[in-house]
Amino acid sequence: MLSPENHLQQGDALLVVDVQKDFCPRGKLPIPRGDEVVTVLNPWIAAAAGRGIPVFLSRDWHPAGHPSFQDAGGPWPVHCVQDTPGAEWHPQLLIPDTVEVVTKGTRYDQDQNSAFDQTGLAEKLRRDGVQRLWVAGLALDVCVLATVRDGCREGFEVRVLVDGCRPVTEEGGEKALDAMRQAGAVLIE
Ligand SMILES: [Zn+2]
Repeated sequence: MLSPENHLQQGDALLVVDVQKDFCPRGKLPIPRGDEVVTVLNPWIAAAAGRGIPVFLSRDWHPAGHPSFQDAGGPWPVHCVQDTPGAEWHPQLLIPDTVEVVTKGTRYDQDQNSAFDQTGLAEKLRRDGVQRLWVAGLALDVCVLATVRDGCREGFEVRVLVDGCRPVTEEGGEKALDAMRQAGAVLIE
């Protein structure tokens, strides 16, 4: 297994995308084996926090009636509604006190798949002197993909922890990995 201690360095940040109950088995929008990312990511979170490397956790955080929901004409079942149990972090995710939460999906008129979309994340990363961004989470072919693309576009050196991601569909996952490579991200398998 890839050791975080040997890879993380100053100038890095770790971004964990949407590891929330609704995206895990028994959630409202379950991603197959989504909960498996937790054991992969916990050592990375701990290693980063232990060496003062910034850790960001993004969360999908929708108002009721959000346009991404099927009953409002969107593609997804109702999920990650603000202040509901399904929007909580996966209970086994180990979250240090120093973590910064990136909240997205709060707009009433559009979805925000990317953790960079109108969240101020790029500015925060620059503030912290971050050049290289490690990304993983859920789902590989939706919010992780959108986040990786934006991270590359913003000029960060993006590394994707593939084992710390799970796709909605296998086919979508393969396409997402291709798209990430094309965007300039380095896939760590
Ligand atoms: Zn959502």
